[in-house]
This record gives sequence, C-alpha cells and structure tokens, in this order.
Amino acid sequence: MLTNKALNVAQARQMLLDALSPVSGWETLPIRGALTRMLYRDIVAPFDVPAHTNAAMDGYAFRIADLAADGDTRLAVVGTALAGNAFTGIVGERQAVRIMTGAVLPHGADSVVAQENARIDDDALLIPPGQTAGQHVRQAGEDLARGKPALAAGKRLGPAEIGLLASLGIGEVTVHRRLRVAFFSTGDEIASLNRPLAPGEVYDSNRYTLFGVLTQLGVDLIDLGVVGDDPAALEEALREAAGQADVILTSGGVSVGDADYVRELTSRLGDVMFWKLNIKPGRPMAFGRIGDAWLFGLPGNPVAVMVTFHQLVIDALLKLMGCSPLPERPSFKVPCLSAIEKSPGRREFPRGVLFADGDQWKVRLAGNQGSGVLSSMSSANCFIVLPETGKDIAVGELVDVQPFNGLI
Ligand code: AMP
Ligand code: MG
Repeated sequence: MLTNKALNVAQARQMLLDALSPVSGWETLPIRGALTRMLYRDIVAPFDVPAHTNAAMDGYAFRIADLAADGDTRLAVVGTALAGNAFTGIVGERQAVRIMTGAVLPHGADSVVAQENARIDDDALLIPPGQTAGQHVRQAGEDLARGKPALAAGKRLGPAEIGLLASLGIGEVTVHRRLRVAFFSTGDEIASLNRPLAPGEVYDSNRYTLFGVLTQLGVDLIDLGVVGDDPAALEEALREAAGQADVILTSGGVSVGDADYVRELTSRLGDVMFWKLNIKPGRPMAFGRIGDAWLFGLPGNPVAVMVTFHQLVIDALLKLMGCSPLPERPSFKVPCLSAIEKSPGRREFPRGVLFADGDQWKVRLAGNQGSGVLSSMSSANCFIVLPETGKDIAVGELVDVQPFNGLI
C-alpha cells in the first residue's frame, strides 16, 4: 500500500512497526557472545537466587524474640559464620553467632545486627533496643525465585542480563539470529575515503555514521560502498542487497531531484509504503520492500540520516531482531535557553546540549542546525522535540528533550 501523503512521525512509526515481525532463526551462544542479542525463549530460574538466606552486613546473627524492648540485651556468642564456611549449629535462645556478609544465616537466627551497632563486653554481645525483625538479611530467592521466569523471550541481553544468567549458572543461551543489514551511499558527488576530493565532491560520511549505529546495535553488516546516480548501477546494488540481506539501508537519492532514483527503483522492483515525512530534518525517507528485504531509503544529508535513523529505524531494526517489548524512549521537559524558530507542519528535532544548572536541567541549541552539519550531532547530547503544531520557542520556554540513547 503506497501513500504519497506526508506522514507524521508517529504514523510512520506505527506503520513500520505494524509491517515488521522478527526474522526467524536462532542460535545458541556462550553468554558473553550473546551480549546485545535478543533472547529466543524465556529463561526460568533453575534455583533460588540467592540460594540461601544470608547476611547483608558484617555483624552478629541473632533471634529478634530475644531482645528486650527497653535496654541492651546480653547474648552469648557461640560461633562464627563466614561466606563459604557456614556455622553448622543452631542459634538457641539468648545466643548469637559472629557473621560476615554473604555467610549463610545459621538455623535459629532471623536477624543481623551490624557490628558497629553492637558491643562486646566480657565475651558477651550487647545489642541495643530498636532492632527490627529480618534486618540485614537477604532472603533465599529474593532476587530470583526458583521456577519463575527470570528473563522473558525478546529481552535484549545487556551487562545486567548476562550477569544475571551467570548468577543462575547458565553459561549458554539461545538468541535470535543476527539481522543482516546491507547499506550503501548514493550520489555522483560522494567520494570514498581512499582518494583525494575532486571539485564539487564530498567525502562519504553516512556510511560511517551508519556503520557506527549498526555496529552498536549488533547486526551483521554488508557494506556495498558508494553507488553513483545511475539507475542501472543502483538497480544492481538494490538487487544484490535484497538477495543477501534482511534490511537494505541507503542514503541519498530519495527526494524529488533529477537524480533521485532510489524511491522510483524500489517501487519498480518491489513496493514503497511511504516516502515523505513531516519531519525536519529528513523529509524524504522511503520505507518499502524489495523481495524478502525491507528497505529504508534515508535522506542524504548527514544529520537527517542520523535523525531518521534514531527516530524510526532503530526500533524497526530492534523489532526485526526479536526485541520485545521495545525500549522506552525517555523524554522530559526542561527550560530552553535558546530562541528557536519553528514553522507549523513538521516535527522538528534540533540538536541540543542538556546541562545541569544547579539542580535544574536546562537545554540550549548545539551550534549550527543545518541538516548537513555533523558537528552539531557531535556536540549535542539530546534532541529537542518540537511537535508538528508547535510555534517559535522563546528563551526560557519549556521544551521536550530526548537524551541520546547511547547509539549516537
Ligand atoms: P540527496 O538526498 O541525495 O539529494 O543528498 C542531500 C545532500 O546530502 C547533498 O548535499 C549530498 O551531497 C549530501 N549527501 C548525500 N549522501 C552523502 C554521504 N554519503 N555523505 C555525505 N553527504 C552526503
Ligand atoms: Mg544525491
């Protein structure tokens, strides 16, 4: 279904996500090699974590019922429990055991007093009143209960998740297979880095920013280089990409200029679902399909590439990679210290610098906002989000900001 209408960003995002489903296929990997990948199946905890109830502080394990409501209580210290070397006896009435962090809580005891809150007096332990039942004790299974799902299918494995898998003694996991992404730049004026620039040429930066975000996402890359504004060469590159990849990413050649062939070729070789967005920068952005591959025809301007990639492509790729649910994208309102001109109609994403002024976060524009000026991306740490209907922003007005998510 093709729409020639310019879509709002939210509509385009919905259309994309509705069209896409995770690629099939999986592999089993050692957990370190599975970093950034999506879990293929639920992980059920094979045992409680922690496996034993244990001390959260260095101190003394005791029975809360022994304590007097007013005044110190005197207990006999009957042994020591170390992490990895338990006290095997039972803590009886008016007894305590010296205990170290991580040591198994001895039978009979239910609470721990921190050593700095107790006193030793003639071999006896003195505990002041005001302790609470169960204090400084980590209950067995309080992190993960045996038989309960510890991680759900679709979860992206980050540092916390591979640590959690390790805490369960799980050394290998089954994850969705890697997504294969073919990408190339288009334009007769675009030069690769291995030669000097001729007059009118620019070096290809898009293939490098795309390499960066795609690598951080953890996909397999197929780099098809630079293709000139030549329909036959572009057709060959698109066919080659569609034959090898799940996703084709191009930059340039999707607007309505004389040499913009990507959209036209895609509709001839496959389908274009949309190609115009109410977004600035990045108005021309095509989404479609060639054979079994999804195509994202990104604009040519380097900042527009990064904005459209961030606003639309990342979540689309994550969905194809099996990620579910998709991550929340935090955004919040802060005062803006720059005046910004905004005409109604498009959702605009000026680049901003979010900074702390005392205990109040504020934002200012990050330099020249031209859609070709990559240095504004480099000095920025957030997008300022100006909605379609919004008007000019005056100094001090509240604006929505979206911190970069680490992939930029
Ligand atoms: P286009 O959408 O092809 O008309 O390109 C828009 C602008 O982005 C033009 O000024 C191009 O020179 C520039 N551009 C396109 N592709 C790249 C690229 N790979 N690297 C740097 N600039 C590019
Ligand atoms: Mg071009």
